[in-house]
Amino acid sequence: MEIKSVRFLEKEVPHLIFGSLTMAPLQRNMPPEEGGDIIAYALKKGIRWIDTAQMYGSYPHVLRGISQSGIDRKELVISTKSAVKSYAEMNRAIDEAMEEMKLDYIDLFLLHAVRSLEDFGEREEALTALLEAKEQGRIGAVGLSSHSTKSALVLAEDSRIDWYHLMFNIRGTGLTDGTLDEQIQAIEKIKNRGAGFYVMKPLGGGYLKSTAEDALKWVKDHRLVDAVALGMMSREEVDMNIDVFSNRPVSEEIKNRLGTVEKKLFVFEALCIGCGKCGETCEQSAIKVNADKIAEVDKEKCILCGYCVPVCPKFALRII
Ligand code: SF4
Ligand code: SF4
Repeated sequence: MEIKSVRFLEKEVPHLIFGSLTMAPLQRNMPPEEGGDIIAYALKKGIRWIDTAQMYGSYPHVLRGISQSGIDRKELVISTKSAVKSYAEMNRAIDEAMEEMKLDYIDLFLLHAVRSLEDFGEREEALTALLEAKEQGRIGAVGLSSHSTKSALVLAEDSRIDWYHLMFNIRGTGLTDGTLDEQIQAIEKIKNRGAGFYVMKPLGGGYLKSTAEDALKWVKDHRLVDAVALGMMSREEVDMNIDVFSNRPVSEEIKNRLGTVEKKLFVFEALCIGCGKCGETCEQSAIKVNADKIAEVDKEKCILCGYCVPVCPKFALRII
């Protein structure tokens, strides 16, 4: 594989990361057999870093992918995340990830979706658990993911964090409390102190799919980017992404086919009871209950992260 590599502790791996959110129950809801087959295909093609999260529900997919590929676990970087706050919950989250993916350690464990500095403060216990787990060798590095530019600008300087997972794309799609320039300032701070940065939502959650090749080229060649996490839901998508990251031409046919697959957050109106739980969860302020007591999505703001899907008590939300 001719993809640029990234150093992760003692490992050197291609900087294209397999993102497992899009195939998980929060989004496409592929069975683990189907998702695992795509992960195994990507690993056989040379990808070595898989990104997942407790919330995604994709541990079974990752487990199947790794075992089906036959690739030695020692060659892989596995990153996962948890949004829990207490010391005990974070320790359980680490154990759960190791057990469910049958791993003897996790390379990178992140505080998931930190919303604000106040939220970060509430996760002090969880961070302590991660730092202890790093000392014990249960995890290799401590990370933080966030959609908030304001938080990233401050937390970029926290020396306890080894890796950051932040939104970054050519148009700044999905940024809620900052501009693309401010996001770049935050990432510059991260890089200046020698910490790692891998990209979240290089295609803006799917909105840049029609210009995927240009959007991916911009992000993969950016001077501040160490690695890029990209959701993949078919062997064709794996092939296309590897071609782009290897600077090989992508056939017009594949570009057209993949570029037309648009996703959306769908509200099953007959099921919605207008409780508003989805809106409370959404960091983008992209969904709220309308005058008819039905959840309504603001397509301009929604980044299709799927985080609202599991909180709906009536199973009225689905990304399709
Ligand atoms: S509405 Fe749901 S899918 Fe869209 S950004 Fe908000 S939480 Fe994510
Ligand atoms: S959480 Fe579900 S039921 Fe409640 S408002 Fe949102 S979509 Fe409707």
